Order: sequence, then structure tokens, then C-alpha cells
Amino acid sequence: MTMPVGKGKGSWREPACFAACMLAATGWCAQQPAWRQPDPQVLPGLYSWSDTCNIYVLKDGDAAILIDLGDGTVLDRLNEIGVSRVEWVLFTHHHREQCQGFPRLKGSDVKTAAPAAERPFFESPTTFRKMKPTLDDAFSVYGASYVRPPVEPIPIDRALQCGDTFEWRGYRLRCLETPGHSPGGMTYLLDAGDRRLAFSGDLMVDGARMQTWFDSEWDYGYGKGLETLIASVERLAKDAPALLLPSHGPSVTDPAKQLAEYSRKLRDLLALYVRGYPVATVTDDEKDSFSTPTVVPGIHRVTPHLYKFRRPNESWNFSIVIADSGRALVHDCGLMSAQVLDRALAGMKEHLGLKQIDALIVSHAHGDHFLLGEHLRTKYGASVWTTDRVADQCEHPERFDRPAMIQTYRSGLEALAIDRRLKEGETIAWEGMRLQVDWMPGQTDAGCCLWLDLDGWRIAFTGDNLFGNPADPKQDGHEAVVARNGAIFEEGYAYAAEYLKKLQPDLLMGGHSFVMPRPAAFIERYARWSKEIVRSYRKLSPDDEYRYRFDPFWVRAHPYRASLVLGGSVEVQVVVRNFRAREQRHRIAICAPPGFEADPPVLEGMIGAASQAAFPVRLHAPADAAPGVRLVAFDLALDGERYGQWFDFILHVEEAARKP
Ligand SMILES: [Zn+2]
Ligand SMILES: [Zn+2]
Repeated sequence: MTMPVGKGKGSWREPACFAACMLAATGWCAQQPAWRQPDPQVLPGLYSWSDTCNIYVLKDGDAAILIDLGDGTVLDRLNEIGVSRVEWVLFTHHHREQCQGFPRLKGSDVKTAAPAAERPFFESPTTFRKMKPTLDDAFSVYGASYVRPPVEPIPIDRALQCGDTFEWRGYRLRCLETPGHSPGGMTYLLDAGDRRLAFSGDLMVDGARMQTWFDSEWDYGYGKGLETLIASVERLAKDAPALLLPSHGPSVTDPAKQLAEYSRKLRDLLALYVRGYPVATVTDDEKDSFSTPTVVPGIHRVTPHLYKFRRPNESWNFSIVIADSGRALVHDCGLMSAQVLDRALAGMKEHLGLKQIDALIVSHAHGDHFLLGEHLRTKYGASVWTTDRVADQCEHPERFDRPAMIQTYRSGLEALAIDRRLKEGETIAWEGMRLQVDWMPGQTDAGCCLWLDLDGWRIAFTGDNLFGNPADPKQDGHEAVVARNGAIFEEGYAYAAEYLKKLQPDLLMGGHSFVMPRPAAFIERYARWSKEIVRSYRKLSPDDEYRYRFDPFWVRAHPYRASLVLGGSVEVQVVVRNFRAREQRHRIAICAPPGFEADPPVLEGMIGAASQAAFPVRLHAPADAAPGVRLVAFDLALDGERYGQWFDFILHVEEAARKP
């Protein structure tokens, strides 16, 4: 038995707690959505509706099953095509824009089916959001989650495996696993006459393009998600569908041609995407054929005043400039043990004239570069310096949804206090030398380059932005491409490349023990690569501005993790970016779990060309909420185009403080 659609007793729930999100559904679209029939000759019972995604309706008489649900608006319009009850909703994958309307089905007996591999995302969504992430959290890039589960749990009645057939009133849907856009995404194949239709979710959108990049970024630049996507595209191509019915945009009427083209474009991207040096096989000599041993075990001399660790098969972060006076500056310090560091520093005091460490300068916000920062401060009196932008993430990593933050390392260190916040572009006069720190994004936007002229060399400390052997013409040196590092190319590798071309260093001191002399041609190759990969992303982007599909942060909450007590409230800033060279109109509904309220519930306004703006939003928790983690989603529209609940942030409800 199923619940009837429409008004009256037993009808779909009116939008209640989702008022804000439903509000968002009206008046957003430039043109009113309407029913379409993707294949009226062969399959007259197939309809499609579009709101936050395409919803496909297979009907038989006045009954129907839905493939994906979108924001739920479809439920109010089914009567227009003679449907009075829905028996099943089949989800292609777990992304919120597929299923965000589910709260309207609560209490009905509409059944749900979803890929078995994604069942946990539907049923226990908050499991995938952590107040204290770790490097090896499942479905995360070093602690930053890449799954986008619903705000509220969705119980799944039937978990579908690859090869299963879902039968309903003579329709036979064959389940084909097509992960890559999401970890367990599924395509449903339907044979109608001699035509095969494929409900392909977000595997590909028309034009041989990728719905989003950030959903396929499953690891730290190794391309697992991308490779999985390519395999799925090629698997689906073998099934030779005649018509592709994707989750977004128009139907694909020439799937064989487009899937082949898509696979080619993805392979081109993969070739550019993986690191520009042999990360897995690089030898110690390739990392550093330049420095020479000193009497201190493990410590090598780079130039007369510059030293670093070099140990077989170790990638420690540490270099030190020792002035003639014996005062020293350390650049990055992490991954070796405190004992190893202590022994080396004792050796340098004995043999290399080291008297005192003035400061540790931190290259970027990843924890592995300052794991021993607190040790250097407490044991050696070093002051810790870095730029403002890096400092924010060192001091409050929990406020950011970023990979490899300090608290994800099993270090016992939750944050690192910064003693001196340097301005980007600031010069430091130190022991007769002139040092400069500049913004140098690349691998992450929260990074800086320290450079100085020393011992006849212009030396740039480039952190984790480029690595390799500059003498090998096959290497361009780029490090991992990770959108979750806040690394859109214009504020990442492409910027770094132009910066280094201007700086013209003679010697690059990379992180992880790399020393790269005479890098001019290497930097040229790096610059060329940064332009090429942007072209590759553009060819795959359904939006003429690729950054909306690449960057997972163009609407974000700061802080990303916000705590509040029962019955209490907390304010976050919602930061909205406009990547376009013209004004952008946004409408963002704040979708909080039942009982929680956002004030204001909807943000609406204009943002100037190529800029960003922040808007305060206060979240209120009900007095009877259970303690724990909640998800709050942003339902987005830009310039009238509806995106749905793309991004989210975490609310943590604390136990009420006990009265004494
Ligand atoms: Zn999706
Ligand atoms: Zn690193």
C-alpha cells in the first residue's frame, strides 16, 4: 500500500522544517520547470522533472516509481501526469541534490532503494562528519570528507548490488555499478523495445562533461576517484545504451560518441593530474644530489650557512640557516622524532657553530611541517613565525574543512600558536641578511615562500609546491592537485609558477628534503603544466567558469565546525565567492536539521565581479536536542540557476553545562 499524492489526509508532508529550502525552490528558476518526455515513442510512460536534479518518473496507470527525488517539488506536480501514488524512489547516488526532498516522504510508505555501497551515507550521514578528523578517516582526503550525505538520515528499504534487477510492473531495471563521481554510484539500465536507456546519475553530463570535480577527488593527488570514474565510463559504454538520462542537464542522444570522448578527456586530465615527478619511486639522490655531509650524522650542508637533514628514505621537513653569530632560523620542522632532532641540534652546536634558534618559520598549514614546532619553542626558545593566512589554519585548524591539518596527526598537538604573524611581502632584517616572505600558494592557498640571497645563491623555500629533479626534462615538478586545499589554479600552481618566474631563484629548497638547484627550465615546465591542466578542467566543466565545479568552498561557513549548547546559539560567517567577471546574484537557503533554526534562513543578494562577501548567520539549537554532530547544508542558486544542497558545515551540540 502506498500513500496518495496531493492534498488531504495522508498526503505528502507540507514543507515544514525545510521551509527555508522549499522557499528556495520557488522563484529561483529563470523558467518554470515543466514535464518532459525523454523518449515518448519508445517509452511513453517515462517522464522527467527537474529541480535540484533531474527526476525520472516511470509510470504505470496512476502509480509510479521515481529515479532520484531532487528537492521534492516533483511530488506536488505528479498529478499533472496522472500519477496519484509513488511506490518506490531509486537513488542513483547519495548526493544531497538527489535526495534533499526526502523529509517530505517521512511517514509515507514510499519505499527507497539505493546502491548498497552507499547505504551508510543515506542512513548514518553524520558518521561522515567529524569534530576531530584524522588522516585516515574513511571517505576523506586526509581528514577532509569527500562525501555529501543528507542532512537527515534516509532509511533504505532495498540495497541494490551490481547485477541486481529491480522489477516493477513489467519494467526491469538492471543495476550497473558506476562509481567515480561518488563512491558507489549506480546506473540503472532499462531495455525498452530494442533501445537501451541508462539512468546514469552524475557519471557524465551532456557535452562529455563532468558534473563536478570535487566529488571525484578521493585521495591526495593519486587519482583514485578519477581512475574509478574512467573505468565506469568505459564499463557503461560496453553496455551500449542508446540514450543516457543523466541527473543534470539534457538527455545524451549520442552516448557511444560522448562516452568515448569523455573517457579521452578524463584520461588526458589524469595524465596531467598525477604528480609531475615520480613520487612513488623517487630516490634520495634525485631528491638531493647537491648537499654534502657534515660531521653531524644526518645533517648535510647545502651552502656554507644552510643545512638540512638527509637520511636514507626519509622525507623530513627541516632546514636551518646558521648566521656567523651562531643565531639560527629553522624553516619547517616535522616528521622526525624529537630525539633525532635533539641529537642533530646538539651536534650542530658542537660542530657547526649553532648557538641559538631565533625562530621557526612555517611554510604552509599542513601539520607535517610543524609537528615539532612546540618542541622547538619550549625546549629551544624559538619563536614561531608565519604569514597571517597560514597562521589562521595553524592556530585554529578545526575552523577549516581542509586535509592534513595538525590535529589529524597523532601528535597530541591540536594547534600551534604563532608568535609573530608576518605580512605577505614583508621583509625581515636578520643578522645582516634580508629575508622576504611572500604569498606563494600552489598545493594550498595557505602557504608562503621565504627567500633570501645567501652565499651567492638566491634561495627560495617553496614548501610542498614543487618537487623533483630539475635536470630531468620529463619532470615539471608539480605536487598533488587537491581542490580541498583551497587550490584553484589561479590562486595555486598557476600563481606560484608566475611568482617563481619573476623571482628567478638559483636554488629551491622544497619540503620533504628536496634540494633543487638551477631550476629555471623546471619552473618554465611547471608554468606550462599549470596552464595546460586548467585547459583540461575547462574542457570538462559544464560551466564556462570551471572553478564552480572544481572548488568545494565557493560557499562555505567559517568556522566550518561550530559548537553550541542545548537551547543555545552560535554565529557563523557564510562566505560566498563570485568567480565571474560580472555581478552575481545568489540565493542561499540554510538547511538545518529539524528543530534547529537559522537566522536569517535565506541569504539573498548580489556579489561584485571577482570578489567575495561574508554574511553572518546565527544557528539556534532546540532545548531538547540530543548532543552530538549535525550537518547543515547550503541550498544554492546563482543567477537563477538552481544547484541544490552542494556544501555543508558541522554543528556540534554540547551537553548543557551542569549547574554547580
Ligand atoms: Zn552527484
Ligand atoms: Zn608536506
